[in-house]
Amino acid sequence: MKPFEWMNATSVAEAVSALRSSPAPADIDDAPRPIAGGQDLLTTMKEYITRPTRVVNLKGIRGLNKIESDGKGGLRVGALVTLSQLEEDAMVQKIFPGLAEAAHSVGTPQIRHLGTVGGNLCQRPRCWYFRLEEVVCLKKGGSECYAATGENKYHAIFGGGPSYIVHPSDLAPMLVALGASVSVVGPAARRTIALDKFFTLPADGNLRRENVLQNDEIITDVIVPASKFAGNSTYLKFKERDSMDFAMSAVAAAVAMGPSKTVADARIVLGGVAPIPWRVAKAEAALVGKTMSTDLLASVAKIALQGAEPLAKNGYKIPLTQTLVRRALAKVGGVA
Ligand SMILES: Cc1cc2nc3c(=O)[nH]c(=O)nc-3n(C[C@H](O)[C@H](O)[C@H](O)COP(=O)(O)OP(=O)(O)OC[C@H]3O[C@@H](n4cnc5c(N)ncnc54)[C@H](O)[C@@H]3O)c2cc1C
Repeated sequence: MKPFEWMNATSVAEAVSALRSSPAPADIDDAPRPIAGGQDLLTTMKEYITRPTRVVNLKGIRGLNKIESDGKGGLRVGALVTLSQLEEDAMVQKIFPGLAEAAHSVGTPQIRHLGTVGGNLCQRPRCWYFRLEEVVCLKKGGSECYAATGENKYHAIFGGGPSYIVHPSDLAPMLVALGASVSVVGPAARRTIALDKFFTLPADGNLRRENVLQNDEIITDVIVPASKFAGNSTYLKFKERDSMDFAMSAVAAAVAMGPSKTVADARIVLGGVAPIPWRVAKAEAALVGKTMSTDLLASVAKIALQGAEPLAKNGYKIPLTQTLVRRALAKVGGVA
């Protein structure tokens, strides 16, 4: 690990100011970084993937560890709320059951006790080429994504190229399905970014990053609005090791039911299959106005995977994800 300066921030303004670096760092991954639970940042520092000159501890900032009702059926979740707090919160379980399930699906109890909501959304990809110190892949400023033709069992089937990472966060697909946004503070004014605009595809954004945050910006809160489908939401995840693992594929689904089992509105967002949470709007549209049935779900699951472009070793993700889509929708749609 490269030597670094440690700074305990006591306010958001202090943290943002400490994240500013002058002169600009030689490389984006040499810039000062915020730390919350530290589970991901410290791992990347030990592997020299990030080499911050200064680490700014957010845990001493008051007020960012609360889950509060907005008084209108929605929630404001502080960035320092832990994943355990989120999964165990009675309001979250009642109003946003899919969010409690997504938090519960992360790692182990120890990981959930330490890991924070902000850190979970901003964690770096798990791609084994990216995580290996010796490999200078595209995301580390190199010229090649080794997963494109190499060991790509865990990589993207949607939205890949030129890098084929998948986003590792379990909270992200569910929060996108729930129409959540993040409140962000930087040197300029506070801004609110809808989570479906927060994550960036390698081809569209900065290839070295997975979201639109600037180095001197931090997430302070996640805003989850009231919605007609939130109470009927679920998160299903398939992992290789049952004890704990990242998603090989996951589905966040939320459905508002109308009369006689018809679907009034739906959200379906896939995890573990793309560099960003992958919303499948065509599949959502195929549900709306229809009566829930096993046949409908089979056809919607096929639509959800249309356009997938598997690599040499991850074609299995198509039938796997179709199954998860069917099961998630059957659960929220009350289909036996
Ligand atoms: C063994 C293991 C298994 C895991 N399994 C899963 C899993 O199944 N599913 C899953 O989703 N995750 C999983 N994780 C990831 C874990 O949940 C995240 O690492 C954790 O949530 C990160 O939170 P943290 O608070 O420790 O973040 P940190 O390590 O402190 O930070 C992570 C990143 O986010 C940045 N950051 C932190 N807080 C903020 C903020 N408020 N604003 C802006 N940037 C910020 C940091 O600079 C850093 O780049 C696993 C991790 C481990 C070690």
